Amino acid sequence: MTATTEKTTTLTHWINNAPAEGKSGRTSPVYNPATGQVQAQLPLASAAEIDAVVQIATAAALKWRTSSLSVRSSVMFKFRELLSARRDDLARIITREHGKVHSDALGEIARGLENVEYACGIPTLLRGGYSEQVSTGVDVYSIQQPLGVVAGITPFNFPAMVPLWMLGNALACGNAFILKPSEKDPSSANFMAELLKEAGLPDGVLSVVHGDKEAVDAILEHPGIAAVSFVGSTPIARYIYEKGTAAGKRVQALGGAKNHMLVLPDADIGMAADAAVSAAYGSAGERCMAISVVVAVGDSGDKLISAIQERIPALKIGPGDVAGNEMGPLITREHRDRVAGYIGSAQEQGAKVVVDGRETKFDNDGFFLGVSLLDDVKPGMAAYDDEIFGPVLCVVRADTYAEGLKLINDNEYGNGTAIFTRDGGAARQFQFDVEVGMVGVNVPVPVPVAYYSFGGWKASLFGDTHMYGPEGIKFFTRSKVITSRWPDPAGSKVDLGFPQTR
Ligand code: NAD
Repeated sequence: MTATTEKTTTLTHWINNAPAEGKSGRTSPVYNPATGQVQAQLPLASAAEIDAVVQIATAAALKWRTSSLSVRSSVMFKFRELLSARRDDLARIITREHGKVHSDALGEIARGLENVEYACGIPTLLRGGYSEQVSTGVDVYSIQQPLGVVAGITPFNFPAMVPLWMLGNALACGNAFILKPSEKDPSSANFMAELLKEAGLPDGVLSVVHGDKEAVDAILEHPGIAAVSFVGSTPIARYIYEKGTAAGKRVQALGGAKNHMLVLPDADIGMAADAAVSAAYGSAGERCMAISVVVAVGDSGDKLISAIQERIPALKIGPGDVAGNEMGPLITREHRDRVAGYIGSAQEQGAKVVVDGRETKFDNDGFFLGVSLLDDVKPGMAAYDDEIFGPVLCVVRADTYAEGLKLINDNEYGNGTAIFTRDGGAARQFQFDVEVGMVGVNVPVPVPVAYYSFGGWKASLFGDTHMYGPEGIKFFTRSKVITSRWPDPAGSKVDLGFPQTR
């Protein structure tokens, strides 16, 4: 049923520190996933609208880069305070458009806030290096300068956190930032833009433009945009990277994932089961760092399956704004049906459906699906090969550590992984061997804190720099090296020899 009985509103872009109506005449519906109803229409920007925003951002960037580091840092401090004070409001917006439960929405805001706190330290982060007397009377020093106008294109699954991975660092470095959020849950971006205005960010330095492929292509092609930071699915990440770099831009494009949790026979089974359930079904499995595959080594398999199965009936699934619920709906009806399709296909391809989420009944039209547990999953089955991005946990059996490791290293993705064991030597060996960018040791969702950087390997990241932290600062700046001397003109003479330092 596609009911549209909720009151719909028309959303706006955010340009020049004010809401701006769309001009293209094209819109897309924004759903409340917990009710299945359309609650708003989102304007989709045309290439001409993107061009107009780039002109505004270009002028703003020229001024913003002249602001002192203290000014930029105090905008970030103030933004941090406002974001912290208004976190409940922002969490409600996230829940209403994304569907995740309120506590989980607060969690993503907390992790996003870490990145704003990191950007507050911009005076220290942008300190360059200085070498005195590289040659007689000659000094060399390096400085980090902003790129100008930079853009971020973000996915639906973290409508606040992923934009915050980018925008604090991009702005604090002295750039103007254009954000193109997911069209499925766009309102968090406008809310944060308003807070940045309140925090003192000058007009035009941050723009939020909503849109689909047309807006994204216009961003990728626009000569006025120097860099694009992207987070989303692998096919689109690859496209963004290829098209953006072909247009001469700096691009970092983070893609999808298939995160394996390796459970060794000596692991504490209760603890591993708690971790697997939390990491697989939290946020309905719509996290790029969700555990979607448990690799049970040796005789840990049967015990682990029953421990996971035991925990499932207690999970509270329902609307994210109802206190006590632990898991909300999926993002769209189509995505929910696609995820459900993997349960049937896995069964047909020989996997055992231990818990079938399709059997859980819900009494409304929201995009809900119960959680599923599949055993005896193998490479070659669609449920293993594809990123499902839903509450479906696959268990693969492996006889040995080496077999489990090979499975992980053979996978096309390399975002996150975890090992559960009580053997420190085995854990250290895993950290050494595994071809994945972020590794947890008894930590199922090893998202790095803001002062490290976030990024996967292989098909989970296209580009050279990881997201946020020191690599984020590197991404949003370019370095300049200055060689300087102040000689007495009296000693000056023509010398056609190549400059040497000895
Ligand atoms: P998506 O790739 O569909 O969309 C991401 C962004 O790209 C959105 O802003 C969207 O408007 C735009 N886009 C979509 N199709 C496009 C097209 N054909 N041309 C140009 N632009 C297009 O991703 P999603 O469904 O919003 O998010 C879920 C995906 O993101 C999952 O694959 C998940 O693993 C991944 N993700 C990865 C990370 C990470 O850090 N590696 C983090 C979060 C999410």
